[in-house]
Amino acid sequence: MQKEKKKIMLTGDRPTGRLHIGHYVGSLRQRLEIQESGEYDKVFVMLADAQALTDNAENPEKVKESVLQVAIDYLSVGIDPKKTHILIQSEIPQLHELTVYYMNLVTVSRAQRNPTVKAELKMRGFGGDSVPVGFLAYPISQASDITAFKATIVPVGEDQEPMLEQCREIVRKFNSVYGEVLVEPEIYLPPNTACQRLPGTDGQAKMSKSLGNMIYLSDPEEELRKKVMSMFTDPGHLRIEDPGKIEGNTVFTYLDAFVKEDSFEKHLPEYKNLDELKAHYRRGGLGDVKVKKFLFAVLNEFLAPIREKRAYYEKNIEEVIEALEEGTAEARRVAAQTLADVKRAMQINYFEAWNEEYGRSFE
Ligand code: ATP
Ligand code: MG
Repeated sequence: MQKEKKKIMLTGDRPTGRLHIGHYVGSLRQRLEIQESGEYDKVFVMLADAQALTDNAENPEKVKESVLQVAIDYLSVGIDPKKTHILIQSEIPQLHELTVYYMNLVTVSRAQRNPTVKAELKMRGFGGDSVPVGFLAYPISQASDITAFKATIVPVGEDQEPMLEQCREIVRKFNSVYGEVLVEPEIYLPPNTACQRLPGTDGQAKMSKSLGNMIYLSDPEEELRKKVMSMFTDPGHLRIEDPGKIEGNTVFTYLDAFVKEDSFEKHLPEYKNLDELKAHYRRGGLGDVKVKKFLFAVLNEFLAPIREKRAYYEKNIEEVIEALEEGTAEARRVAAQTLADVKRAMQINYFEAWNEEYGRSFE
């Protein structure tokens, strides 16, 4: 019987700050589902510190501090180091070695054409040719991360689609030139559009650490209340009796992403479900404050257990470090295997080949 293709997950985050609820709905929720499904041979989650440094070269403190903070976020939402290997990118030299070889398979114009990179260049203020080479090349290094673990699935938000496309192109090019070694990954997007790209509390298209419009998974209750109560809604909805818009109304987008089956029964029993609430808002007669209070209750219920686990890991930081140590060691082992396959295919496995040719052991 033919062995079924292995199912392997890899994804990660840039340690440039703590994780927010956009990361949760865009990627963390899907990782947890995969982790708990028991259907995967291996599950990897990566702290992409080397990638974070591509636009934070002068900010190593921030990256260092965030590595531990993001690891605590992982464990607090339920990433379980017994089931998921958590690794630190810069600790796996094989990943960077792969990048060097993949760079030869991508043209400068292809790298410049990536729409997410273009948007990020603008957001980070890299005008003209002032972009660091490493930043332009980060999608290539992401391809190394994905292929080093032979990942078949990558759960990420919609902004990562161009990265996955770039990765698949590299895989196809590599395999056609050197032979079938690498595996083409598939993207795993969240099921609804609210989650694929959660907007910021200010109504901007994307909640992002770089834009300062986020709700952190670690926000205390009062901070959360303040952020929710001052959120962007429908600027045309001035009086309670005015009809309101749902489209582009961030409060409703968050409700789309976070309301659970029992949320109304628990926190707003006058309505049966979100459709009823939306219909009332559209008709007029429903004030923003009431909807925001409901959203606060929903988010607070979601964040309360995460905060509790965070407090535990903050006190037991050695457990976090041990998880990173074990995950990184396993990742190193797997990446070394892939790099050996790659070098063999590229015929740059000199000593191994000479040993075979001459029947002795050169090193
Ligand atoms: P930075 O501004 O430093 O790039 P970021 O907030 O964009 O930070 P990343 O580390 O780049 O976060 O992204 C990690 C993962 O979270 C990716 O899979 C990305 O698609 C997802 N993600 C980030 N922001 C959102 C969002 N607002 N909605 C949905 N998914 C998101
Ligand atoms: Mg990003």
